[in-house]
Amino acid sequence: MSGASATGLPEVALDHGLRFDNRLVQALPGDPDAGARRRQVEGAVWSPVLPTPVAAPRLLAHSAEMAEALGFDEATIASPAFADVFGGNALMPGLAPYASNYGGHQFGHWAGQLGDGRAITLGEGTNAAGERWELQLKGAGPTPYSRTADGRAVLRSSIREFLCSEAMHHLGVPTTRALSLVGTGDAVVRDMFYDGHAAPEPGAIVCRVAPSFIRFGHFELPYARGDVALLRQLVDFTIARDFPHLRGAGESLYADWFAEVCTRTATMVAGWMRVGFVHGVMNTDNMSILGLTIDYGPYGWVDDYDPDWTPNTTDAQGRRYRFGWQPRIAHWNLGRLAQALSPLFGDVAPLQAGLDAYAAAYAALDRRNIAAKLGLVEAGDADVELMQRLHGVLQAGEVDMTLFFRGLADLDTRAPSLDVVADAFYDPARREALGAEFDAWLQAYVARLDAGGEPADLRRKRMRAANPRYVPRNYLAQQVIDAATQGDTAPIGELLEVLRRPYVDQPGNARFAERRPDWARTKAGCSMLSCSS
Ligand code: AMP
Ligand code: MG
Repeated sequence: MSGASATGLPEVALDHGLRFDNRLVQALPGDPDAGARRRQVEGAVWSPVLPTPVAAPRLLAHSAEMAEALGFDEATIASPAFADVFGGNALMPGLAPYASNYGGHQFGHWAGQLGDGRAITLGEGTNAAGERWELQLKGAGPTPYSRTADGRAVLRSSIREFLCSEAMHHLGVPTTRALSLVGTGDAVVRDMFYDGHAAPEPGAIVCRVAPSFIRFGHFELPYARGDVALLRQLVDFTIARDFPHLRGAGESLYADWFAEVCTRTATMVAGWMRVGFVHGVMNTDNMSILGLTIDYGPYGWVDDYDPDWTPNTTDAQGRRYRFGWQPRIAHWNLGRLAQALSPLFGDVAPLQAGLDAYAAAYAALDRRNIAAKLGLVEAGDADVELMQRLHGVLQAGEVDMTLFFRGLADLDTRAPSLDVVADAFYDPARREALGAEFDAWLQAYVARLDAGGEPADLRRKRMRAANPRYVPRNYLAQQVIDAATQGDTAPIGELLEVLRRPYVDQPGNARFAERRPDWARTKAGCSMLSCSS
């Protein structure tokens, strides 16, 4: 691997609205070595490395909202120079590319140094509104952290990350964003099913965007190595850059910060549970310090309600990252972060307080979800029970989560009937068999609504704001992937367009709000995914 240098790629000027200050590389110790030679990197948070050029970069899709935030106009986005920069073939002035160094607990076990094996940050800066944005290419070639892998990403997983990060944003769930999706023109070899049949697939690069890509694992690595000085430096930097509203100093500042990380994480997970998102790989290296959904891999969307479901075939045995366990896994992950931060505290009490703040925040948000999803002003203990009962029949009845809650808003409380959610049932026989249970639940629900005495239109409004009509169902993403693999990339933009307004009924777009078709029940990519990406 040849050494990368700041002059190793051509520079092209692109009009944009960012002022690059590259604060992380300015403030924190970097690796004295450049280039992608695989190695353990001690005493440094980042390693300088450049993207590796690709054969034929071509822009396949972009996010209009993200382009606007970063100040890229449509003409710039359509220019070949844009595809060059966001395909890794050129740099803009002011960038300082690097790969970041972090560790993590994977599936419950400490995994040592991991790092950005296929992500390369181009640079970070602020826009005119004062927002900080870091631009990061995923799939731009090897870094010191690539271990035995190639640093690349396939088109299918890049489409999934691009679409889902923007969809999550529009759903109101904290997430990293995506600016662009660039096809590389190079093939990437992957064994999609881990069955010894590796095959070439089209390659692609997503430009991810976030105020910070710092993860829990960033703090765990210096802790594991006993490098308390680096740990403290990283904490001080993170607070100053990413939590500038926090005041104070020393342990009390650290305690306030940890508590905020905990409550932000609770907000993120509560968002996932509300909309039926399963991350799939909640390892601590995939947990953002800002509480953003990060690292879209073998994630999935719940079709028929099932708290035990995980899309990740790599996790099929223990199903550690199943839908219903996400709140407790986030708590466990925060416990690993607390442990990593413990050398900065004389006493564990403030860290325990942060973990307790997570539990309290999540419990409150869960109640808020229950209230909003059922259209109540607020949820009391009896309402929590009402929701638990509903979850039970939804699971037993194999009922589509998204369609059921969206349809429930249309319930006529004077003549309650399952007809408003008829399209949510996957199996008519189950609906039949559970008829009495559903009727009993509807009676209880209507009684609760009557007792609340709120006008029906207010209830409907509340429910429609919490229960999306459109989510990037696994099979919808797969259809887009199949078309793009055949060369038709227009459906990527079409699906994104629908997902920009997930809470608004869109006449003419009913086909994006249907339950999973039968053919998709067991098809790879639609109900199960491997980590191969
Ligand atoms: P993930 O499970 O996607 O969070 O990845 C776990 C670790 O493997 C991270 O350090 C990634 O950067 C690294 N990794 C995953 N895929 C690749 C790849 N194709 N090339 C290099 N590193 C990779
Ligand atoms: Mg990761």
